[in-house]
Amino acid sequence: MKYDYDVIIIGSGPAGFSCAMQSTKFDKKVLIVEASSVNIGGSWIQKGTVPSKALRAAAKLIQSFHSQFGDERGRKPFEKFRMEDIMDYKKTILEGKNKKVKDDIIKNEVETVRGWGRITGKNTIEVVDNLNTKKEYSAEYILISTGSSPAEPQNFTIDHEGVLDYSSILELTHIPRRLIIIGGGIISIEFATIFSALGTRVTILNEQSEVLPFLDGEIKAALFKSIKKKNIQVINNATIEKISKNELRTCDEVLFRTSEEDRLQVVETDHVLYVGGKIPNTKNLGLEELGIKLTKHGHIKVDKHFKSSVSSIYAAGDVIGEPSLASASFLQGRLASVDMFGGSVDAMMGDRDLPYGIYSVPEISGIGLTEEQATDLNIDYTVGRAYYNNITRADLNHETEGLLKLVFRTDNLKLIGVHIFGEHASDLIHLGQSIMAHNGNIKYFIERVLNYPTYSEAYKIAAYNGLNRVHKSGIKYKKVLDKD
Ligand SMILES: Cc1cc2nc3c(=O)[nH]c(=O)nc-3n(C[C@H](O)[C@H](O)[C@H](O)COP(=O)(O)OP(=O)(O)OC[C@H]3O[C@@H](n4cnc5c(N)ncnc54)[C@H](O)[C@@H]3O)c2cc1C
Repeated sequence: MKYDYDVIIIGSGPAGFSCAMQSTKFDKKVLIVEASSVNIGGSWIQKGTVPSKALRAAAKLIQSFHSQFGDERGRKPFEKFRMEDIMDYKKTILEGKNKKVKDDIIKNEVETVRGWGRITGKNTIEVVDNLNTKKEYSAEYILISTGSSPAEPQNFTIDHEGVLDYSSILELTHIPRRLIIIGGGIISIEFATIFSALGTRVTILNEQSEVLPFLDGEIKAALFKSIKKKNIQVINNATIEKISKNELRTCDEVLFRTSEEDRLQVVETDHVLYVGGKIPNTKNLGLEELGIKLTKHGHIKVDKHFKSSVSSIYAAGDVIGEPSLASASFLQGRLASVDMFGGSVDAMMGDRDLPYGIYSVPEISGIGLTEEQATDLNIDYTVGRAYYNNITRADLNHETEGLLKLVFRTDNLKLIGVHIFGEHASDLIHLGQSIMAHNGNIKYFIERVLNYPTYSEAYKIAAYNGLNRVHKSGIKYKKVLDKD
């Protein structure tokens, strides 16, 4: 049967974009359907990854400037710097990024159509544009990469003025003096430290019992020491009862209880940021009619090749659930295309160690087993640590807050986990990742020349530190170094 396209992609975020790019490498005819009439790129460029990182970059510059040069009149950053300038900075970054993505799409001859895409058959979709005009398209394959949207809170509403979500906070017109963040996940910690760098007084009301429970314990302790120093208050087990406007005092009031103290508490704030998770965009896509199966959390169910329960329809990115990251979505979209047109590539991601990067100030990143997991698994492990204040490059850059921690098997020194709190963590992690991917051990960091001064020196210091610990436990140093 002859179709209009080889593949139609619904949604132009990282999963859709990478599937389109990869498919053109197979000389396939590609159509991207995007609901936004303004730009392409989804949460990646318009509402999440890149804009929040632009805000972070500006906040970090301001913080460095402020902490290195101080202020003779004791002013806070928000009294000296204007949100308008930060937003201009973000706008310039986004304009550049939008242009590059559009250029790639044009250069690779990917066709695009604006409107709401809805699947009408195993190989057909319908697109409704803003004038309500409907058009049908067909393809051998369809990729659903419609992403996710911010979850709605239950006890209050997001008005995008006083109460914001992770998308509307990126449009603030001023630096708030006080900010309450409801939620204890990655995005909360990122925004908490970004706004704290701008001088905002931040309180996190976490509805769960713990913030970032997956972190290695020592890394979490380092993070908490850092956020305490910044006067960021974290309240766990908080149940929000109500958020109301106090017109007299021109602020919002958040009323909450905690499981420890069952009395109603009130905090005043300029803004509330609600980050209560993500909802997969599966509504009004025609999934039910076609019998496309969802998981119990409402994500599209896919096999290890990113195929849905209908074999011509694939799904990738946030719409299929965890890890819900742009980094993973890029790979998923590409692998879906390879499975459609390339054939034999093993599209499994499940058995690969995935790194995560948290763009707080400073950053956090990790891969592999935490020390706690290694203990639970009864692995005979040793850890090696390097503190940033022992790294020359960190000294030079006034970025001495941090820790890199290696977790490795005591018997053969095989690296099984890397956990970092400190600047450049999300880049640094990839050195550990590649050693782990090649079943390498920590001797690599000792035996190889690494550029100096660099943040990578932390790997060398941590490897020596870990080796000393192995030595102290009775294993002869020379024997350890000879062993392979
Ligand atoms: C504040 C924030 C910070 C983040 N930071 C990071 C980070 O630092 N690193 C990282 O890896 N990830 C980060 N993420 C996560 C990342 O943005 C997402 O995981 C990623 O964008 C998901 O990609 P996607 O392709 O699945 O969908 P999306 O990027 O959400 O794109 C989906 C697209 O589909 C379109 N669409 C939806 N329905 C239809 C339809 N029916 N018809 C046509 N078009 C449709 C939407 O308009 C949208 O453009 C962050 C997210 C947020 C919110």
